[in-house]
Amino acid sequence: MDMTYHDYDVPQDLQFKTADIIRLGGLECSAKLSPAYFEDVFQLPNKITQVAVSLSFSVANKEILVRGTISGEREVQCARCLTMSKQLFAEEFLETYSTKTEIIDIMYLVRQTLALTEDIRFLCKPECKGLCPMCGQNLNEAACGCKPENLSPFAKLKGKFK
Ligand SMILES: [Zn+2]
Ligand SMILES: [Zn+2]
Repeated sequence: MDMTYHDYDVPQDLQFKTADIIRLGGLECSAKLSPAYFEDVFQLPNKITQVAVSLSFSVANKEILVRGTISGEREVQCARCLTMSKQLFAEEFLETYSTKTEIIDIMYLVRQTLALTEDIRFLCKPECKGLCPMCGQNLNEAACGCKPENLSPFAKLKGKFK
């Protein structure tokens, strides 16, 4: 049977003592986290701007089952035009630990979950025109004067073997 302790003081680094969870007979809790913990989880300039976690620990036999939801807001970069857009997200995870584990490292799980959901092919809109490869102009905002013939693969090859 799970018990709910909403006043449980969730550690900001999300390192839970297994002994505490066993003593409480399970735990349900949630916390808002500092985005600073997640500055390095993404490869692209993508970043987390708001993040909260809600957790449910249940103790059964020799195992602790953890179900979690991470939700918040992130800024993601368009793969074509490189502009940043805000996006809401919600991800779930599930993990079991032995009751012999001393510390349950939820931070690791949260970071892993977030890293795995990075979309490196994200587009600000399906028809995004991207940047001009010659002058860097964002073609969604304005056309540039570059001549399209200079962009043909043949023209590029010609330049290479000059
Ligand atoms: Zn775009
Ligand atoms: Zn251009």
